[in-house]
Amino acid sequence: MSHTLKHTPANCWQVYSSQEQRKAISDFAVRYIDFITQCKTERETVRWIRDRAREAGFSDDPQSPAFYRVLKDKSIILVRRGRRPLKEGLRVLGAHVDTPRLDLKQNPLYETCDLALAKTHYYGGLRKHQWFSRSLALHGVVVTQDGDKVNLRIGEEAEDPVFLIPDLLPHLASQQNEKKLSEAFEGEKMNVILGNDKAETSSAGGEIGEEASEEAERESIKKGVLQLLYARYGLTEEDLFSAELQLTPADPARSVGLDQSLVGGFGQDDRVCVFCGLQALLQESDPEYTQMALFWDKEEIGSEGATSARSMFFEYTLQELLETLEPGSRLSRVLANSRALSADVHGGLDPDHQDLHDPMNSSKLGYGPVFCKFTGHRGKLGANDATAEYVAWLRSLLNSKGIPWQMAEIGKVDAGGGGTVAKHLAVYGMDIIDCGPSVLGMHSPFELTSKADIYATYQAFRAFLE
Ligand SMILES: [Zn+2]
Repeated sequence: MSHTLKHTPANCWQVYSSQEQRKAISDFAVRYIDFITQCKTERETVRWIRDRAREAGFSDDPQSPAFYRVLKDKSIILVRRGRRPLKEGLRVLGAHVDTPRLDLKQNPLYETCDLALAKTHYYGGLRKHQWFSRSLALHGVVVTQDGDKVNLRIGEEAEDPVFLIPDLLPHLASQQNEKKLSEAFEGEKMNVILGNDKAETSSAGGEIGEEASEEAERESIKKGVLQLLYARYGLTEEDLFSAELQLTPADPARSVGLDQSLVGGFGQDDRVCVFCGLQALLQESDPEYTQMALFWDKEEIGSEGATSARSMFFEYTLQELLETLEPGSRLSRVLANSRALSADVHGGLDPDHQDLHDPMNSSKLGYGPVFCKFTGHRGKLGANDATAEYVAWLRSLLNSKGIPWQMAEIGKVDAGGGGTVAKHLAVYGMDIIDCGPSVLGMHSPFELTSKADIYATYQAFRAFLE
């Protein structure tokens, strides 16, 4: 226990300075980079988590000491039973698997200017200008009337084509340049290019019939795209109504910096916490308290809907466990005795926009996972505010294990803010606080984290779940 009068935050790189620790940081980052390159949507992430859990002996039988439950392929709960009864409470770690991106509209396909395009509707809080003139991959699922699921993943392999929303050329951008950023880029003008080949479609007129030949001529490139979708995936235009197709950056995640100390990649918010949380859970084979990892969808649009943190999925799963394992115990008691981490990333101090942060209360890359005692905005509106007692317990826990951590707020008091899933678990009366590594360029197509922070976050999650 430290009794130094003045507090000096510990830098992870200095704490983890041995050759062995540096190797552990770098090995962990290699696995993490592979994970975020492979998993770009909530469904891909949930499938990956489920596969790792199965490999580690988890089963969907609630009697099993290592149990998982998947909801609609978009949310997953993992439970590792502890030595103490459930009524003494759980250790709960919640993170989210969804990420801001561009979704295809349900009527996406059209043709204009001799190009086939698809209309999009963005998902979550993204900055539109970051999505132009960059290579995009198409991920998602299409469900046919027969119930067959067709998984698409186009643009991730070197030989795959990618997709693109071209940005306006500077020569004609003078009007746009005068607009406010919030008005310069319109959602309806984020249409992605799918094709240009007219020759491909000259043989496509047949099924339309002669009377429609003018129509066929007008939409021949779109028709070519439809033909390809049918030939390769057996899909028709109507199938796109029952589809969830998302455009993500096509690039892989990779090391950043001459010293390779950072990770750049899409969807680190919040898949970095998903990865660290899952790895922490898989490490522990015989915990004292029952551990629960909740990986939710829909955080980026306010945790609405069946697969979100505001759904009853968590409560129902816990109810089922109680009925199976401890029929006498009350759900409300289990919940109120539980301790939780809302494992989510934190906006780090931006070197080019330091004026938006309070330097005394902002997080820096390299200083470990960030505790955010309260979230919300402008007067703590909409905040979860962790108790001083709980913060004290967490401090003591991480300090006793020599794990670096920091305490911060996202920005200046009047600059803005945001919320996480913390408040949706806090309603049960359980102790909960936000905790996760710092990110620069949050919600951008290529977010930045520090490898040392990722490793320290994993250590912190382990200590918490233990
Ligand atoms: Zn997040």
